[in-house]
Amino acid sequence: MNRFDPTVEATAESEDNYRNSLLDFIFRSPSPYHASRCLADFLESAGFTRLVEEEQWSLEPGGRYYVTRNDTSLIAFRCGQNPADSAGIRAIGAHLDSPCLKLAPNPILQRHGYHQLNVEVYGSPLLRTWFDRDLSIAGRIFFDNGKRSVRKCLIHKADPVAVIPSVAIHLEREANTRQEINSQTHLNPVISGDMDSLEQLLFTGDDITDSGYNGQTLLGHDLSLYDVNPPECFGTGKKLISSARIDNLLSCHAGAIAIAEAQTDNFCMLVCSDHEEVGSVSDSGAGGPFLASVLRRSVGLDPSVIRRSLLISADGAHGIHPNYPHKHDDRHAPIIGNGLVIKVNANQNYASSGESVAFIRKQCENLNLPHQIFISRNDIRCGSTIGPIVASEIGIRTVDVGVAQFAMHSIRELASIGDAIDFKRLLTAVLESEKVDLSEWVDT
Ligand SMILES: [Zn+2]
Repeated sequence: MNRFDPTVEATAESEDNYRNSLLDFIFRSPSPYHASRCLADFLESAGFTRLVEEEQWSLEPGGRYYVTRNDTSLIAFRCGQNPADSAGIRAIGAHLDSPCLKLAPNPILQRHGYHQLNVEVYGSPLLRTWFDRDLSIAGRIFFDNGKRSVRKCLIHKADPVAVIPSVAIHLEREANTRQEINSQTHLNPVISGDMDSLEQLLFTGDDITDSGYNGQTLLGHDLSLYDVNPPECFGTGKKLISSARIDNLLSCHAGAIAIAEAQTDNFCMLVCSDHEEVGSVSDSGAGGPFLASVLRRSVGLDPSVIRRSLLISADGAHGIHPNYPHKHDDRHAPIIGNGLVIKVNANQNYASSGESVAFIRKQCENLNLPHQIFISRNDIRCGSTIGPIVASEIGIRTVDVGVAQFAMHSIRELASIGDAIDFKRLLTAVLESEKVDLSEWVDT
C-alpha cells in the first residue's frame, strides 16, 4: 500500500494513489490515538510544526502548525499572509473517533471455564456486526516504569486475540427474525484460556515489540477492540471501499490532504475531534474548549473575524439502500458514487442554511462536481455531527457536507473512492476560495 503521503496528488489520474493512501491511513488508525498520530506524521511531512498547549506560541505569518489534546483531538492551521479580520477563516471540521467496544478498566473475566474480556460500548455501534470477527486491541496505555515514573505508549496489536461468538441457530431459532443483543451480557469476547491478565494479553506475541512495552504493570489504559480485517476495494476499477471507520476517517484524510495542498494565503484550519460519537462533550471534544482556545491564541474569536468565516462540517452521509429504500425521503436520497452529499435538517441537527448550501453548491458547480442533498425523513430521527455544536459554540457559519455510505456504524462500512476524491477537491477549493464571507458573497 502507498503510505499516507503528502506528495500523492489526488487527481483523477492518480485515483489509485488516493485510494491506497486512504486505505493505508485507515489500516494504521485502529484507534483515535493512532489516527491522530498518523495525521500528525502526515502534517509534519507537509511542513507543519507541532505546538504544545502548555507552552507559549510564537506564530509567524505564513506558518503551518498543529496541536493535539489528550493524544487524540488534533487542530492544524495555516496562518497565511492575509489578515483574518478582513479575509476570514476557512475551516474543516471532522472527527477521528468511531463507535467501538472499549476494554473495561478490569477487563479479564473467567466464566463457565472460559477467559473473556469485559467491555464497554462506546457510541452506537451496530452491535450485531461485531460478532464472529477476528478482533484485536489498539489504543493507549500508561504503565509503571519503575523509578517512580510512568510511561505511556500506543498499542496496536496486529494479530487477532478475541472473538465474540454468535449463539448457534439451533440454540436460538428466532435469530434471523428477532435477535436481541444485551450489551452487558452478550458482547464479551472469548480469549485464549491462558491469558490471566491484560498485561499478558497485550505483551504476548511479537506484534508490539517496537512500542516500548514489555509487560510492565498497567496503571491506566484507553484500549478498544477492532476488526483485523484490512480495508479493501472491489468492483470494476476498485471504486468501492469496504472498511471499518469510514465514518469518519475518510473525512479526516480528505481534510488533511486539503489543508496540506491548498494554495492560499488565507488563514485555514482543520479540526479533527475525538468523542463525536458520544456527544462531543469533553475536554478534547468539539463541545469542549479546545477549538475556542486555539482560535483565541491564533486569530482571535472576535465576531468581526468569525462572522466572515466558514466551517465545512465534514462527516459521512447515508446513501439510499436498495434493500431499504423506504428509509429515505424520495427526493433527498443520495446514491453512493453519484457525488457529494450536502446535509440539511430543519431542526439544526445539521448546521447548513440556505445561504451556506448555496455557497457549497456554487463551489461544486465551479469544480464540475456532482452533488446531492440529504434530509432525514420526518419519521426517522436525524443523526448529527460536530457542525451544529461548533456553530452554536463560536457562531461560525457552517455547512454539513460528506460522502454517502452504507452501514454507518457497522464494523464494516461501504463508500465510493470517487466521492472521496471529489470531497478532497471540494475541501481544497473552499480553503483556496477568495471569499467565504457570505454576508458579502451574496448580492443583495
Ligand atoms: Zn461521523
